[in-house]
Amino acid sequence: MKTDVLIIGGGPGGSAAAMLLAKEGIKPIILEQEEFPRFHIGESMTGEAGALLRRLGLEKQMLESEYPVKHGVRVFGTSSWFIPVARRDENWNLQSASTWQVRRSDFDAMMLREAQARGATVIRGTAAKAVLTDDGVLRGVVMRRPDGSTEEIEAQVVLDCSGMATFLANQKVTGPKYVGSYDKQIAFFAHVKGVIRDSETSGEMAKDNTLIFYKKKFHWGWSIPVDHEVVSLGLVVPTAEFVAHKQTPNAFFLSYLPEINPELARRVQDIEFVESVHVIPNYSYQVRGFCGKGFICIGDAHRFVDPIFSFGLSAALREAEFAIPHVVAYLSGEGRDEANPFDAHQCFCEKATDNLEDMIDLFWEQPFAFSVFVHHRYRAELTDAFAGRVYETEHQPSNAILQFRKMLKRERDYEHPDDYSIPIGSRYHPERAALWAPDSVVETTEEWMDQGTGQKPEEEANKFAASTQALGSVG
Ligand SMILES: Cc1cc2nc3c(=O)[nH]c(=O)nc-3n(C[C@H](O)[C@H](O)[C@H](O)COP(=O)(O)OP(=O)(O)OC[C@H]3O[C@@H](n4cnc5c(N)ncnc54)[C@H](O)[C@@H]3O)c2cc1C
Repeated sequence: MKTDVLIIGGGPGGSAAAMLLAKEGIKPIILEQEEFPRFHIGESMTGEAGALLRRLGLEKQMLESEYPVKHGVRVFGTSSWFIPVARRDENWNLQSASTWQVRRSDFDAMMLREAQARGATVIRGTAAKAVLTDDGVLRGVVMRRPDGSTEEIEAQVVLDCSGMATFLANQKVTGPKYVGSYDKQIAFFAHVKGVIRDSETSGEMAKDNTLIFYKKKFHWGWSIPVDHEVVSLGLVVPTAEFVAHKQTPNAFFLSYLPEINPELARRVQDIEFVESVHVIPNYSYQVRGFCGKGFICIGDAHRFVDPIFSFGLSAALREAEFAIPHVVAYLSGEGRDEANPFDAHQCFCEKATDNLEDMIDLFWEQPFAFSVFVHHRYRAELTDAFAGRVYETEHQPSNAILQFRKMLKRERDYEHPDDYSIPIGSRYHPERAALWAPDSVVETTEEWMDQGTGQKPEEEANKFAASTQALGSVG
């Protein structure tokens, strides 16, 4: 089978890429291993993610689906603060705006249907092996169908939108995959009923906003409405904390949630699970060299920092949009002789995500200073960042981000390609920068616990951590 563009993964990044290609008259193949609808985490959108859906002409579908409308994010912790969803008008003035919270099973299925309706061919199958030319250019993949049969799909360009499965990184087509700054965390989450929401009259149009609660560094939770009744409730702690408690994920989730913050405890006194608890450990990573001859990795397929401020969907959607002009140029023959025809796109995406990483790191390192910045000094700059406006090079890095870098004693060097994409977050250790693969996660956690805390995890608890790995599949 032959195609101009093969997209691996029919999540939001893959479907958006397909719709944007369709606008250019290019009809890609999307290879998706799962039967949709399927569960997926990641329900809260930034303002820019919502704006891109509108640019794709999907507002009608979003309104018809009655997704909760998000007007902002409220954070409860050392201090409480609110940041509204806002857009920039043509004069770069901030204007109020809104975006959506989505139940991903429905949303992802809608996106994939739309991509198909606009010309993409969707094939149910798994990208099993990358196929390279003798001189190392990616020229397609071997796909495996659900019945076990295999076939090669040849493509001029492969867009890896495989999410945390990081297909091309695991196939070693990209550069190495490093653990990120938040690699020792574990996230528990479930859809539940009975969470107390803010009332519609409590200001900030608060009923369906994202609520974030934190206790101390790396201990936090979220509440994100996915319909008028059901809320996505999440808890994130260091994996060591979970292992030490020796509880099942369900028991740990229920007992630990109220400990995060009194405001969260008040809201979850009478909850009822709609489904069992999902778990994702060690989700923070970064892939170097994620673009190359014949391929671009998009969204989670190359980098995930931390879910705290809901940037994942935004990054996947926006990177898809920014990638398409490069793909069109490549298909028309440009850059074929260059070592990396998508080098400019790669650096552009890294710079934007570095802005987010610096913001998240500063929040964890100095939460009180961060709240002062949100309230006063950098309110406009942080309103942009929370909306996912971190790609606008004429405004980025903003004064806020530059200040954060000073406070973090951090320099970003984009002149030397070997340096710029090494994660330099607060918990990164160069000596641990081994290639990270999903099936080595639990080992990595144990290793860290032995070295970092001097604590030898109990065998039983370890088995549990290992079993969460299977539960943690996000695809
Ligand atoms: C705990 C947690 C909470 C989060 N909360 C939020 C949030 O509130 N808001 C937000 O914006 N983001 C959030 N995220 C991040 C968000 O889930 C992701 O960033 C987002 O889903 C990325 O979209 P994507 O299209 O890149 O990948 P995905 O949505 O993961 O899609 C990848 C697709 O590729 C398919 N696939 C994988 N491998 C193959 C293969 N070999 N062959 C064929 N198909 C394949 C999978 O089945 C899947 O459908 C959260 C993440 C975590 C871990």
